[in-house]
Amino acid sequence: MSDGEGAADSTRTGGRPIMGEEETWPKCGDCTNPLTFMLQCNLDALPDGMANHESGILRFFYCLHDHCAGMGGWDAFDPQHHLSTLQGYGNSRTAPKGTFVIPPQYVSDLKEIQDVPHWPDRQNLKLPETDDRVYAADGHKYAGWPHWIQGAERPACPECQTVMEPFIQLDNAWNKDFNFGGGVGHISQCASHPDQLAFGWACG
Ligand SMILES: [Zn+2]
Ligand SMILES: [Zn+2]
Repeated sequence: MSDGEGAADSTRTGGRPIMGEEETWPKCGDCTNPLTFMLQCNLDALPDGMANHESGILRFFYCLHDHCAGMGGWDAFDPQHHLSTLQGYGNSRTAPKGTFVIPPQYVSDLKEIQDVPHWPDRQNLKLPETDDRVYAADGHKYAGWPHWIQGAERPACPECQTVMEPFIQLDNAWNKDFNFGGGVGHISQCASHPDQLAFGWACG
């Protein structure tokens, strides 16, 4: 990650989101304040073979207002966050006045890593027991296996009830201003309904 926003359509945390002209800034479904822009992921710019079920630029917003602190946001479909994908043209949008803006960092070097199922997934997959617990890679991550904090938490798609697989991981150290209680968050998507997106986080 490098400091700054990079290009308008870069994959990044913080800064200004790319938004279409017709789009309005998302508001918290609980306190109704404007949400803070957390990250965007350019799904079209991923390496071959890593494409997800959808194209465009995925944007993720989260409520950082005091009213909502500790009042939710960690469960898949809580009203304190917003996920959507921009198809087509957009521009960087400045947050409404008074909205907290996270200092931007963009992905300048995508690195391929080896990953393994985290221990709760090993149990689910009925993989052989190991002497030591096996952990999936932590850190920000696209694809691979989720690094779970409290056990596997995959939401069900509201349309078809199919289990939604996490594909973007946000790690605890990603932001000193807000870090999910030192935990890890995941964005998931339904394979059959790409517009069904979910976010959840857990801390120890
Ligand atoms: Zn709120
Ligand atoms: Zn579905």
